[in-house]
Amino acid sequence: MSRFWSRVARDLTPYVPGEQPKIANLIKLNTNENPYPPSPKVLAAIQAELGADAARLRLYPDPNADLLKTAIAQCHGVTAQQVFVGNGSDEVLGHAFLGLLKHEAPILFPDITYSFYPVYCGLYGVEFIQVPLADDFTINPADFCGRPNGGIIFPNPNAPTGCLLALDAIERILQANPDSVVVVDEAYVDFGGATAIPLVDRYDNLLVVHTLSKSRSLAGLRVGFAVGHPALIEALERVKNSFNSYPLDRLAIAGAVAAIEDEAHFEQCCRAVIACRDQLSANLAGLGFEVLPSAANFVFARHPQRDAGELAKALRDQSIIVRHFKLPRIDQFLRITVGTDDECQALIAALRQITA
Ligand SMILES: *Cc1c(COP(=O)(O)O)cnc(C)c1O
Repeated sequence: MSRFWSRVARDLTPYVPGEQPKIANLIKLNTNENPYPPSPKVLAAIQAELGADAARLRLYPDPNADLLKTAIAQCHGVTAQQVFVGNGSDEVLGHAFLGLLKHEAPILFPDITYSFYPVYCGLYGVEFIQVPLADDFTINPADFCGRPNGGIIFPNPNAPTGCLLALDAIERILQANPDSVVVVDEAYVDFGGATAIPLVDRYDNLLVVHTLSKSRSLAGLRVGFAVGHPALIEALERVKNSFNSYPLDRLAIAGAVAAIEDEAHFEQCCRAVIACRDQLSANLAGLGFEVLPSAANFVFARHPQRDAGELAKALRDQSIIVRHFKLPRIDQFLRITVGTDDECQALIAALRQITA
């Protein structure tokens, strides 16, 4: 706190990202990064961008990242006018809060969800109502219908539960809220969900947000995108061009295009993560954990007898880091990112010993 802080800076409650410890040989299962490297074509494209003309970084990138929008449009069967790109999906979401969700009425999101949503509400002055998840930690679509609101946002699969909502339930929410934008944050959809992108042609109130951080192994490159009706995209462009005209640098654009185009690498990585997740869930259940059904690259699990905070600490003593949220309803759960097979085996071995 300092007298130089603005009122805005004083009143903020910032998001707290999962830690990125600077310790070697950690088994890092706390921030849902992909355990596999990105496509080699990503690195080649970035090197080509650097090598083509050593002075190219002297020039601003394409403010509209047209090459990337075109690649995303082709990949998902939409037009480039239906695509917005940003510096990580967190930035895309931020623009959506300011450009599409900030209205008179409060917006709706689940009580247990991505903890950045209330942070954006604080930053942009958006009122919100937290809608409780059902007892089994799933989203009940009826709870998002017949309730006046300024907009709706939820991840699908939800975070940090990993639970998936079916597309017909999403359609029900879209139909019940024709005058609100419904943002579906599909950060984890590639690990077992069905994307709502094919619905954007039928619902002008749907915005689907994706990231290259998880399923494309590019958390370090910071690229996210949104797909929706051109009028929704235009609102995001207006906010973006009032904030930072060049959110994606030259290397990010080149790398992201290559990542989107390498379908084979993408599918192979997703398959490996899914297989390991299902094995991890079964092994945790074998140790007595209750594991929520996950369609993501993490599992959410609690042990009926062991305190989650103590488990997290005991794992940490063995250089394994998982995420523990000290929040109502979920403070006895651990969120464990799906790592490589070896990492997951090490985790299970450690937990077997800790819970013995
Ligand atoms: C990881 C995550 C994001 C942010 O992704 P970035 O593109 O890395 O900013 C957005 N939403 C949810 C639900 C996430 O888990």
